[in-house]
Amino acid sequence: MKKSRTNNPDALSTRLHYPGDEQRLPWLPLLLDAYAMADEGVALAIRNEEKRRRQRLACGKSCGSCCEHQKDLPLFPHELVGIYWYVLEKVGASERKILKDRLGERTADSPCPFLFDGSCSIHPMRPMGCRQFNVFGQPCAPGEDPYYTRRGDVLTPLADYTDRAFAAVIPFYELEETDPAAAIRLIRAQIMNLQTFDWGKLAGNM
Ligand code: SF4
Ligand code: SF4
Repeated sequence: MKKSRTNNPDALSTRLHYPGDEQRLPWLPLLLDAYAMADEGVALAIRNEEKRRRQRLACGKSCGSCCEHQKDLPLFPHELVGIYWYVLEKVGASERKILKDRLGERTADSPCPFLFDGSCSIHPMRPMGCRQFNVFGQPCAPGEDPYYTRRGDVLTPLADYTDRAFAAVIPFYELEETDPAAAIRLIRAQIMNLQTFDWGKLAGNM
């Protein structure tokens, strides 16, 4: 896997590259472009908000309470395909075995199945909702959903970057709709929840 800056030298995110896989899987470059766009929007929104508040983001590498306790994790079909690919082809054998058990044994109260030792095991393919969930002030308390306890501390993603991320994957859906805004609405309407999604089929393929 390689990383590159986008065309803009001041770009705030890097786009991942999997050259062989991208040649073989036509949807993968679309998804990687979408995630690079989403990441750039998040980085820009964080930078703006940190300046405005004169305060750093609370999220840090060792902080993963959200992955344990969040019940609503948006997931779209193009993201699901990315997770399937990553789990089946990129996750190491030992992690895959643990993951298979977790996916098969999930209950509604389980933490996100992809959380391993405080880190996301599908980090390059984590959904846009995970990328955009960022909190200021103090790290979330265990079980806290800051959307309800302190909405003002939750980062509001930049809508135009989110739309551009969705626009990047329009070809994936092979829609008859030609108006991009309408196509994005159709894609958004296919929202699922990572936490309640039935991962049994993926487990069965592992
Ligand atoms: S959203 Fe909350 S729990 Fe998650 S990394 Fe940020 S501060 Fe930590
Ligand atoms: S997919 Fe990764 S980032 Fe998203 S909730 Fe699960 S462990 Fe956290």
